[in-house]
Amino acid sequence: MTIFPLPAFQDNYIWIIQDKDSSDIWVVDPGKADVVLNYCHEQKKTLAGILITHHHKDHTGGVAELKQYSNCPVYGPEHLTDLVTHPVDENDLIQVLSLSFKAITTPGHTLDHLCYFSAQEPPILFSGDTLFKGGCGRIMEGTPEQMLAAMMKISDLPDDTLIYGTHEYTLANYRFALSVEPANQDLIESNNASQKLRAVEKPTLPTTLSLEKKTNPFLRSHIDALKVQAAQQLNEIPAANSVAAFSQVRRAKDSFS
Ligand SMILES: [Zn+2]
Repeated sequence: MTIFPLPAFQDNYIWIIQDKDSSDIWVVDPGKADVVLNYCHEQKKTLAGILITHHHKDHTGGVAELKQYSNCPVYGPEHLTDLVTHPVDENDLIQVLSLSFKAITTPGHTLDHLCYFSAQEPPILFSGDTLFKGGCGRIMEGTPEQMLAAMMKISDLPDDTLIYGTHEYTLANYRFALSVEPANQDLIESNNASQKLRAVEKPTLPTTLSLEKKTNPFLRSHIDALKVQAAQQLNEIPAANSVAAFSQVRRAKDSFS
């Protein structure tokens, strides 16, 4: 089984899931059809299924055309009735080639956001715009409470889970992460490694849950020194409870330049 990205737009990755013994492929969040169609054509692959994490256009914009082309099943949020053939809810199981994925609802960035988890070795998570390397999605429809709950759901997965987010935001995320944890050695090392990858235009993804727990401020908003730094950037006093602290870190990132 191989998973690799087709870049699209400025910084999106359309993840391709492919088995060496099969000409079938699946795609995650095809915001654009032509990159996927070109790949299928050049590599003589058949599009066998689509996973959608949430409704934003840069994740769904290519689905209608791809469906027309391949007539494949599309798994995703229930309300996307014109695109989704198989509506997905919490804990639903989806067979993707030889892998079984479980849907995890993670409202916060949007209310319909889903992540897809496979417990194979190593475990895999397609995290859409919920968790990025070094960051998390903006809270556009949900609440900080929902987004923190999503972070905690992901934290409960195995530490060796490989996490495939939809955007190459790592270096910008790390600029903020370093501003709230300038002495975090794991963060400094991961930032250096990611800088080297981006310098030769290689993806910094996937990441692992264990690395995110050591470096991602949105999985670390319980840490006192980090809370103090985030509050200082906002000219506020450090929040007293976990939701307010998470919200403070998110707002500090939103206003970080
Ligand atoms: Zn989005």
